[in-house]
Amino acid sequence: MKRRTTARCTAVAEAQAAAAEAGPAEAAGGSAAEAPSEAACASDGLLPVAERFVSLNGEGPRAGKRAAFVRFRGCNLACSYCDTRWACDPACPVAWESIDGLASFVAAQEAELVTLTGGEPMLQPALAPLVERLAGLSRVRFVEIETNGAVDVGPIVRLRADLARRPEGVRVGLTMDWKLPSSGMERHMVRGNIALLGVDDTVKFVIGDEADLRRAAEAVRAFDLTSRCNVYFSPVFGAVDPADIARFVVDGRLDGVTLQVQLHKILWPGQEKGV
Ligand code: SF4
Repeated sequence: MKRRTTARCTAVAEAQAAAAEAGPAEAAGGSAAEAPSEAACASDGLLPVAERFVSLNGEGPRAGKRAAFVRFRGCNLACSYCDTRWACDPACPVAWESIDGLASFVAAQEAELVTLTGGEPMLQPALAPLVERLAGLSRVRFVEIETNGAVDVGPIVRLRADLARRPEGVRVGLTMDWKLPSSGMERHMVRGNIALLGVDDTVKFVIGDEADLRRAAEAVRAFDLTSRCNVYFSPVFGAVDPADIARFVVDGRLDGVTLQVQLHKILWPGQEKGV
């Protein structure tokens, strides 16, 4: 029984990989109904992909750079301002994709930068083997993982230390949210993650109001974040005037903090998917 289910999962994944060039929407919509149980697919090492596409990175130190994106379904948080709620919905249609299938997609794009996002990508049991596989692709130079700060990043940090010793020299960076009061999710932060961050990592504070700004500044100072990693303050789009954050950073002498607005919200206003 298990072997039959595994074969079906694999067949579904292979069919989706073959349909990669038809686009992620078609792959997700066309195969999900045929798939065996999701638990069986997950235990078969497949990953629930809500969408995959090529665009420009919207945030962090690599904002504006071309990247191949893979967005996974599911999140363990429910932030007040979430702009990818559709991908967090357990009912979101997905393509169950194999690691090889995703590697084929990235290789076909000839992308140097890969961004793994969600939802919350760290919830995927197969994330580390996927990162390792992507790091073995000849064109890939950097794998970025966007994470919400509410999942232990230790396994990925240990993997990247291993990858850094390999001749390919591929770097792995975390862009980690620091949830502030207006998100409603602050209590879920895994504080142990902070000590694991390094120069290729970013802490992103999404600012929803003035109380968030004050809390963010406290955290930057208390954990000396700017000497540990990149630090960005980013307004909840449409909720906070970026000029207010700019003034706060200047007046507060928050050297090392970078103000950033979400590039894709400016370039492609109102577009939720594929950007
Ligand atoms: S962590 Fe990110 S994806 Fe999850 S609910 Fe919050 S904003 Fe949305």
